[in-house]
Amino acid sequence: MSLIENIIRPEVRALSAYHVPDAGGFVKLDAMENPYILPETLREELGRRLADVALNRYPVPSYTELKARICAKLGVPAGYDVILGNGSDELISIVSVACAKPGAKVLAPTPGFVMYAMSAKFAGLEFVGVPLKPDFSLDKAAMLAAIEQHKPAITYLAYPNNPTGNVFDVADMVEIIKAVGDTGAVIVDEAYQPFAQDTFMPRLPEFPNLVVMRTVSKLGLAGIRLGYMSCSGALLTEFDKVRPPYNVNVLTQAAAEFVLEHVDVLDAQAASLRWERTKLAAELTALPGVEVFPSAANFLLVRVKNPNITSDGVFSALLDRKVLIKNVGKMHPLLENCLRVTVSTPEENRIFLDAMKASLAS
Ligand SMILES: *Cc1c(COP(=O)(O)O)cnc(C)c1O
Repeated sequence: MSLIENIIRPEVRALSAYHVPDAGGFVKLDAMENPYILPETLREELGRRLADVALNRYPVPSYTELKARICAKLGVPAGYDVILGNGSDELISIVSVACAKPGAKVLAPTPGFVMYAMSAKFAGLEFVGVPLKPDFSLDKAAMLAAIEQHKPAITYLAYPNNPTGNVFDVADMVEIIKAVGDTGAVIVDEAYQPFAQDTFMPRLPEFPNLVVMRTVSKLGLAGIRLGYMSCSGALLTEFDKVRPPYNVNVLTQAAAEFVLEHVDVLDAQAASLRWERTKLAAELTALPGVEVFPSAANFLLVRVKNPNITSDGVFSALLDRKVLIKNVGKMHPLLENCLRVTVSTPEENRIFLDAMKASLAS
């Protein structure tokens, strides 16, 4: 046996690394980033704040000030605290590790966010995917049956879902949270909350097994890597034991504290993007051979329904025109011929639309 076979777990060897394409020179519409930056005056003030940060010191691991600001500005209910992660990706990993009892399982609707399954595998948990219906709504009966059968320690519900963009029915979600009861945690992943403008956060006191997870990434701060998560104090305490003590660095901490004082700027950017989403959806719908799915996120899922070209063909034709989106057509049978595109500025949306038109005609 080789060194690799001797030491690396077979499930890790079987995985392919999460592929992030190099987007140099492209109009980048593949990763749900906010295309806007902070206004000049705020950037200068942020620069001065960051210059004052003591880079020689470890972060203070309680993160009291940043957490207080998140709770106050982002709607965490009174009496609830948050745990911070280096992006919500790290929070997913923390939850997986904390719950990785032998034989424990993770359940989520599919197609869904790939990190739920990846993180489960890394922690040695079994992942159970329950297909959505063809219209991407929850198959409630199948979810309830899977919960009964597998007793998952963790159930993920992304609200809105990625890569489909839709929000699940709230009554269905509540039934699932209740059905899981005290046999598992249900994580409602609200990465796209600024674009959905709906949230389970105020409902935390109703459900002791509910965990609400969010990130500042899609709001406009993807580069600083900061996620936060709230749930009942007892559960939060256990998750916090698994968190590396200095997981959020001092620059991220200072930048987040500063930006949260000006969160109205990011809220206004999200409002523009919601408006652009409506316009882009209407223009895409008007193209022949394109189906656009309803979205409550900052991206649109579209299906190519053209006898002459597949989603692979459109994806490559867009690449030739220096536009990078995400080809999800091979990700799941329900996504056949589907593409996912981030909603951006009016200028970039125009470039994308023109490239789409040309690609469909090619
Ligand atoms: C983007 C995304 C995340 C990851 O967010 P980070 O904080 O950048 O790690 C989590 N969940 C969903 C559904 C996402 O789309």
